[in-house]
Amino acid sequence: MAPLKKEAKEEKVMGITVKKDEDPSEWYSQVVLRSELADYAPVKGCMIIRPYGYAIWQNIMDYFNGVMKKLGVQNAYFPLFIPESFFGKEAEHAKGFTPEVAWVSTSDEEDGERLAIRPTSETIMYDSYAKWIRSHRDLPLRINQWCNVVRWETHAVKMFLRSREFLWQEGHCVYETEEQCELETRLILKEYRRLAEDILAMPVLTGRKTEKEKFAGAKRTYTIEAFMPDGKAVQSGTSHNLGQGFAKAFGISYLGRDEKKHTPWQNSWGISTRLIGAMVLLHSDDKGLVLPPTIAPIKAVIVPILFDDTKDAVLNKCNEIKTQLFREFNFDVKVDDRDEYSPGWKFNEWELKGVPLRIEIGPKDMEKKQVVIVRRDTGDKEFVPESKLLDKTKELLELVQENLFKKAKKHMENSIVEVKTWDEFMEAAEQRKLIKTTFCGEIGCEEKIKAESGGASSRCMPLDAEKAIDGSICVKCGKPAEYVVYFSKSY
Ligand SMILES: [Zn+2]
Repeated sequence: MAPLKKEAKEEKVMGITVKKDEDPSEWYSQVVLRSELADYAPVKGCMIIRPYGYAIWQNIMDYFNGVMKKLGVQNAYFPLFIPESFFGKEAEHAKGFTPEVAWVSTSDEEDGERLAIRPTSETIMYDSYAKWIRSHRDLPLRINQWCNVVRWETHAVKMFLRSREFLWQEGHCVYETEEQCELETRLILKEYRRLAEDILAMPVLTGRKTEKEKFAGAKRTYTIEAFMPDGKAVQSGTSHNLGQGFAKAFGISYLGRDEKKHTPWQNSWGISTRLIGAMVLLHSDDKGLVLPPTIAPIKAVIVPILFDDTKDAVLNKCNEIKTQLFREFNFDVKVDDRDEYSPGWKFNEWELKGVPLRIEIGPKDMEKKQVVIVRRDTGDKEFVPESKLLDKTKELLELVQENLFKKAKKHMENSIVEVKTWDEFMEAAEQRKLIKTTFCGEIGCEEKIKAESGGASSRCMPLDAEKAIDGSICVKCGKPAEYVVYFSKSY
């Protein structure tokens, strides 16, 4: 018997032509473009998120909307345009964001004021908060918005990781007390960590940003930092305790339980489509995308091995298995029944697209009442009796998820190097390590570290272990050290 329309199309899958460890930058672009996550836009510095990429973002949104609902955060929407005068109200915030704000230029002079395209929404949201908050009964106020923001950077676009426009969520909450504000600021960080580690299989360091790296206008910024195979970190989510600075600047106050006027405490926090870029960089390989099952838009693909005389029976079996998997797990499984491509071509394509499991079914498998399951992460192939299919699928999806996390965690832990001297620091920076050291905390000293080391910046001070022990000195200037800090190059 002859395979159906054998090699009808001999053209090759547009596979990845460079190796991840040889040319990470070109490799990354090829993976993102050829797996159809995203495309370049006709507008400089922007990107187009294609349906396959957006489905991942949708999964992140669905997951995190569930988290926010439990925390009592409600979604809302504020305007894209922000009056210029709003930026002037909080001095540090204005200083931090003004250089990268994009302004709207129209001939409409009636408004009398320039409009900014939001780089972040503190100012426009808190203008409304000042009107809405009257009494302690209005607190806590917890609002989030899913939206796009624009930061007019000069860096070249790196899809998902750095572009002038990107998608994110920004949560903005207001509290009666400093304690509650700090508690929830850190609770959000914990939720970000859970999203990164449990859903994206991406281990992260959690900690506080240094004075130099904290959010403009914040009292304290907490961060999750992922570490990539090429030795660069990706800041993957931040949660800011804003203190009372914005509340004072925007005139937000409330009548307390003591019938007196008080200034509330605020936080803001965000994750963005950068998460997708970090996840792609972290897990994917020379064959293309590798997606953790929990976030993958398609968890398994069924590829029928078709011959003329058994075609209908095999396709029926494939659809039967698809229905079984959907009923059991309620997730998307695809049957690739396209006639015009050979099984080998399809294997390559689904590997390129990072689908966690491939299930192959041919006439011989049907005779033996079995299927073949292949893992995307390891390439391991298993013959599985049909009667064990559901259990095995569940087990393998969990194994893939776990394996990706463990592999990344091992790399991150093995990359951490503790250094005491500047020579050791320079050597570790050269080797693209995640450098743990002691630091004085001064902004000027940190700037010198970054300049002289060829771009190693502070990532965070470890959560609840940020104080340097007495007697330790700053790795750069030799003054008494205040903090323990992780440094590395970054995206
Ligand atoms: Zn120093």
